Amino acid sequence: MSDDPRLLPESLRDDFPILHQNVHEGRPLVFLDSAASAHRPRQVIDAIVECYSHNYANVHRGIHTLSERATDAYEQAREKLRAFLNAEHADEIVFTGGTTAAINTVARAWGDANVSRGDEILLTPMEHHSNLVPWFQLAERTGATIKHVPLTDDGRLDVDRMGEVLTDRTRLCALASVSNTLGTINPVKTIARLAHEAGAVVLVDAAQSAPHMHTDVQDLGVDFLALSGHKMCGPSGVGVLYGRRELLAAMPPFMGGGSMINRVYLDRFTPADPPARFEAGTPPIAGAIALGAAVDYLQSIGVDAIHRHEEALIDYAWERLQEVPGIRLLGPAPKFRAGLVSFVMERPHPHDIAQLLDFDGVAVRAGHHCTQPLHDLLGITASTRASFYLYNRPEEIDALVGSLQKIGDRFK
Ligand code: PLP
Repeated sequence: MSDDPRLLPESLRDDFPILHQNVHEGRPLVFLDSAASAHRPRQVIDAIVECYSHNYANVHRGIHTLSERATDAYEQAREKLRAFLNAEHADEIVFTGGTTAAINTVARAWGDANVSRGDEILLTPMEHHSNLVPWFQLAERTGATIKHVPLTDDGRLDVDRMGEVLTDRTRLCALASVSNTLGTINPVKTIARLAHEAGAVVLVDAAQSAPHMHTDVQDLGVDFLALSGHKMCGPSGVGVLYGRRELLAAMPPFMGGGSMINRVYLDRFTPADPPARFEAGTPPIAGAIALGAAVDYLQSIGVDAIHRHEEALIDYAWERLQEVPGIRLLGPAPKFRAGLVSFVMERPHPHDIAQLLDFDGVAVRAGHHCTQPLHDLLGITASTRASFYLYNRPEEIDALVGSLQKIGDRFK
């Protein structure tokens, strides 16, 4: 399958220094855990080094050269993220600590002001805990009710049954665009339309989609979108909250401190306009600048080309993994999924599988992947997950399958 025209050139791996190493007595590293956190190319590492070596100071404060340079670079990064998501305005891009921080910001700042007793928050059973717990906390604070979009048997959202769960009390629909466990690509545009028709606001957790496929917030018609830098070739500790301008402008600040104010008096304050209103304290300066460099990198390859590459990999993985005796692949067929696959085997436990794979140099994730309710629904406590990114190759899937076959033989 190495000649599949959808695959990106192998030379791209040269951009990623961390991939070129052996683990466990000379076994070449096969890194299949990018859904947890991806790696960075030299271009992004260089941007971090350049920032700290030449252009670093606090932003929006100093009237000196380094501060001006850092502020310019930080605001340029905001503009890059705006273009990446096709947001209408740069002030709709808020830098946060990541997806979790972005969702919590909405749950607090928008949720506390707009949700009250008897209102409904519509989620899905495949959400990451980051897109569940902040809403449970909001429901506890306000007396709102949590509801879920039903799933089909193969692990997709049952859009035909949205009418059963959307009501005139639905204030918010929050869903992942790609499930980090099932790999399902959800029909966000359709769901956003239906939710809006019911008068609800829509938040998309794009942690697993923004790194891998074209994201256009205007085309999707969503109100909020959250992403993490570390899953898209950027640094950890930085992410983005996109919010529609009118919504952000109407939201009170959630976290108080420096930078988020317009004026502070002895006993009160007036807040700054967005996005500063939601960026209290010193922001992740080098992180945001390097995230801008990550966006440049992804765009130089082409996000659509990355998506096609991962489609080729998941098609191949789906076919090859069926060769492993006793394996159960979770989630829908490849045409409905992104480049990740979770599975269980009759024996051994997912943690043992991950450990044994690691001995062969293959890095995967095992556990509940922060989707415990979904694992409950599937009747399992844990699974093993292999996830692919632009630097993965079909031979690495062969290595995974070969190692799983050995494990299967050993535990027969
Ligand atoms: N949402 C999804 C779908 C994820 O996969 C993850 C991370 O794995 C998160 C949210 C949380 O992201 P972060 O830990 O970067 O805030």
